[in-house]
Amino acid sequence: MVTHAFINGAAHPIEGADELEVRDPGDGSLVGTIPEAGTRGIDAAVEAARAAFPAWWATPAGERGKLVAKVADAIEAATDELAPMLTAEQGKPLRESRLELHRCVETLRHYAGLSLNIRGTSVSDLDTGTRGMTLSRPLGVVGAIVPWNFPTTLLANKLGPAFVTGNTVVAKPDETTPFVTLRLAEIAHAAGLPAGVFNVVPGSGEVTGQALASHPDVRKIAFTGSTPVGKHIMRTAADHLKRVTLELGGSDPLIILDDADVDAAISAASMGRFFNCGQACLAIKRVYADASIAEQVAQGIAEKAGRLTLGHGTTKGTQLGPLHSQEGRATIAKQLEDAVASGGEVLAGGGVPEGEVYDRGWFHEPTVVWNPSHDSAVSVDETFGPLLPVWPVDGLDDAIARANASPFGLGSSVWTNDLGRAMAAAERIDAGYTWVNSRTKVYDELPFGGLKESGYGKEHGEEALRYYTEVKSVVFRS
Ligand code: NAP
Ligand code: MG
Repeated sequence: MVTHAFINGAAHPIEGADELEVRDPGDGSLVGTIPEAGTRGIDAAVEAARAAFPAWWATPAGERGKLVAKVADAIEAATDELAPMLTAEQGKPLRESRLELHRCVETLRHYAGLSLNIRGTSVSDLDTGTRGMTLSRPLGVVGAIVPWNFPTTLLANKLGPAFVTGNTVVAKPDETTPFVTLRLAEIAHAAGLPAGVFNVVPGSGEVTGQALASHPDVRKIAFTGSTPVGKHIMRTAADHLKRVTLELGGSDPLIILDDADVDAAISAASMGRFFNCGQACLAIKRVYADASIAEQVAQGIAEKAGRLTLGHGTTKGTQLGPLHSQEGRATIAKQLEDAVASGGEVLAGGGVPEGEVYDRGWFHEPTVVWNPSHDSAVSVDETFGPLLPVWPVDGLDDAIARANASPFGLGSSVWTNDLGRAMAAAERIDAGYTWVNSRTKVYDELPFGGLKESGYGKEHGEEALRYYTEVKSVVFRS
């Protein structure tokens, strides 16, 4: 696959651009190359998006919603083509690629439905004969920058609310996962989205992403990625007072109290940690279990980890694919080393699996580590891979104190059958989401976004529409 940018409804070659290689994380083979589209690509895409904006804004919201629904249908119909493409560039098992595409489609459908709910307010008696109203205006050109772990859903979270509110979009996928995104843009336009409404510009963050974030005609950056890059985006956006939504890193705690359904909690912890090879912002990254059950919990998760089948994403039966990159695997290995050096005991996994298949990709065994020091890297930093620390705690207050002893505040879970303790945890944990006795599934209906260093603003839910519009006040006198 050799490719181009997608600008103004068509393939857009970037003459003379450097080429970046995309490799399959499961076996190192070359998937294709993309151009570093850079300033030239971004300038062309922003110009196309700016030109398309007035007609798109003038399109009735319900019509925009119908088009977004058509795009969703077209993506769904292309699942058999897109899923292997996603597995090749991202590494995840085919089953998870299909699931991701399904979520992408559902999110677009959700916003297609919400297109009928976009409205302002009115005040009838301001002064004699004077009425007021508020208008909800789109921002204009929105820049969307996403990482590689869920390239399609993280983009759909931005496209859905941006499109139905009347914005046009320039998207920059991660340099390592560009192909599905480029194909999505082609599919969207074939389904009827007008030229220039959805443009995709491939390239690296430092060059192409930076050109997008600093472009004066881009009114908002919707960013998902790491906390350090998110902070940099916010600083860059400040130059033009661009709006930002930042969905950043997390270190989500899962608390299991002594009255919980322990087996269900163990399943949720295992699923929450090892899905997508542990590379999810909302993955369970720290487990705190009441001391009376903590060893049972740790052993239970270790057993589940030990039973997972590792393999290339296209191999039948694979439950855990490779990590996405060599650096990602090296970071996990270092964090594990630090956890062990601080006193942690490895209960499952612990290293790179042996075997010819595993030598070709970035595989790491699903690993459970018991009771490392609470100031080791697995507690303080984000762990972005299949590594789960479990700590014993002394009841609810201790659990919440440790859960909150993190710079992050994205998601959190609590398992207990005591309604009062569940409510106390939900209120007191510093996080944008708390699941009670539930797996960490994200719902389109509920707003999602981190506290503390996990982000700024919300995606999902009707709430997200606010982040793609400006409120304007109008006064009428008669
Ligand atoms: P990252 O390095 O921050 O990259 C994210 C995106 O930003 C990529 O497209 C990257 O481009 C681009 N980028 C990098 N530098 C840039 C710059 N100077 N200007 C503009 N764009 C720039 O993220 P990552 O570490 O790969 O992704 C994993 C992180 O994302 C984790 O921390 C995870 O928790 C977080 N995440 C958060 C959520 C959420 O909803 N809160 C969801 C998923 C992931 P290139 O990679 O092409 O250089
Ligand atoms: Mg990257």
